[in-house]
Amino acid sequence: MSKPKKPIFVIQEHDASNLHYDFRIEVGNVLASWAVPKGLSTDPEDKRLAIRTDDHDLDYADFEGVIPPSEYGAGTVLVWDTGDYENETEEDGDSINIRDALDNGHAIIRLNGKKLSGGYVLQRIQKGGGEDEQWLIIKQDDDDADARRNPVSTQPESVKSGRTIEQVADEESEKDES
Ligand code: MN
Repeated sequence: MSKPKKPIFVIQEHDASNLHYDFRIEVGNVLASWAVPKGLSTDPEDKRLAIRTDDHDLDYADFEGVIPPSEYGAGTVLVWDTGDYENETEEDGDSINIRDALDNGHAIIRLNGKKLSGGYVLQRIQKGGGEDEQWLIIKQDDDDADARRNPVSTQPESVKSGRTIEQVADEESEKDES
């Protein structure tokens, strides 16, 4: 018997009206999503603000390219990191499923990506009207923590194509012209 497939995560750099990083994790048959202005950190001291956004379809996870000006999310999208994750949320020693964990406003997940790995805490700090909830994403202080790595600035390229966000934008606009 094969093991059940682990749920995936993806972080898409999104150069829209404001540059941000869309952090998405597979929950059921959708991608639960947050917009993280500064992206995720590997430093446990560095709490990153994350605004809950609309769930996305699972097949959006490998999208990289340009969203035209007339459409929602207009701008350039790059697959900054992806992989699978494990839900490690517990309460009083009992495992909490990821859907309940997110409803409760507290989840602990272990990422297994190309750039990011190890535990991250997702903590809701302000409940919104469904879509504008404010959360923090914080690296756990484990073997994968590294206060000096700063992958958002030192590893900007796509894990899907090796391109930078500028290259994605340039190459897609050349396609349109040809
Ligand atoms: Mn976005």
